[in-house]
Amino acid sequence: MIYLDNNASSPLAPQVKQFLLEHLDIYANPSSFHTLGKNSRQLLDVAREQVAYLLGGSPREIIFTSGGTESNNLAILGSLPCAPKGQNHIITTKVEHPSVLNTMRYCEKQGWDITYLPVCKSGLPDLDYLTNSISSRTFLVSVMYANNETGVILPIDEITRILEKYNVIFHVDATQMIGRQPLSVSDHSIDLLTISAHKFHSLKGAGALYVKDGTRISSTVQGGKQERNLRSGTENFHNIIAMGQASYLAKTSFLDKMDKIEQMRNHLQNFILHNIPQCVVNGIRAPRIANTLNVSFRGVLGDVLVRELSQHNVYVSHGAACSSGAREPSHVLKAMNLEWDFITSAIRFSFSIYNTQQQIEDLKELLPKVVDKLRNMPE
Ligand code: PLP
Repeated sequence: MIYLDNNASSPLAPQVKQFLLEHLDIYANPSSFHTLGKNSRQLLDVAREQVAYLLGGSPREIIFTSGGTESNNLAILGSLPCAPKGQNHIITTKVEHPSVLNTMRYCEKQGWDITYLPVCKSGLPDLDYLTNSISSRTFLVSVMYANNETGVILPIDEITRILEKYNVIFHVDATQMIGRQPLSVSDHSIDLLTISAHKFHSLKGAGALYVKDGTRISSTVQGGKQERNLRSGTENFHNIIAMGQASYLAKTSFLDKMDKIEQMRNHLQNFILHNIPQCVVNGIRAPRIANTLNVSFRGVLGDVLVRELSQHNVYVSHGAACSSGAREPSHVLKAMNLEWDFITSAIRFSFSIYNTQQQIEDLKELLPKVVDKLRNMPE
């Protein structure tokens, strides 16, 4: 099997699995006052320290959530009620994950004025457009750190410099950055930052929102006032302590392996460009996270190619994974203004530390044959 769909979800790290198995019998509620409850609370506190260590913040700035989608919703919907009168403008980009874009569309219906920044062919946002649209009316700017489909890394530093003169909240969706590129919230003026555990070798159903001390934000869920009253509900204990372990590993070990991943990614990329005609690597002109390779194979339908490869036990994606399984042409590639043929023929290979060079060699054997077969199939 060759699993190259790590931007959709990544395998559990063996160390995290072992840690989980050792703690599975713990059931006391971390909010209970007795000793067992306090023991659970201590483990949650350790996880909070580990996530803070990964992100370069302090533990009190970490709010546990159920994942990237909830963190993005909390960041946007939680901050808007704190907007001063007259600040009713939000800026985001056209290439965000649906958990941001659909939340923005919801806000639009509530009367917020939203600017969707266009991107260039490279996948990078138009910063002149940002400079021209930001004003004293702007309350929130929400952009992703790395794009889930192309791996393109957005210029967070340059964006920060543009925002400096304004009184805005800056939210960054860093879901695809963790464990793939070093990141420290203290190096940038980031107020809110989203992460999701299953993208860095932990379980689905946990994530966090970094909330910089002093950031105006309110709860979107009412209840028992857990997580500094920003996310009520009994904490998803096992998922969270697993995410803590994975955060520690991401910081101390995964990042060291990124050079190897980048070499494998580039090796496959060069092979495709030199051996399979009519291919384009999307996002190649921009800085990209090391594990992502998005390629259009002209003349082939991306979803058909994904299905065919899957029959050979090679697992890749056509655009982003979505709940319905329905395949819409990628809004990211559309925003990059690609020709239609290149949009519908794109697939994404996303690597992890568990891939091997041998797998890439096997894929080099298989891929040209599969692409050739599909290109020569009668209509
Ligand atoms: N943001 C980005 C950039 C993502 O890639 C994803 C998931 O693919 C999410 C948010 C949503 O994360 P989750 O699956 O944890 O809800």
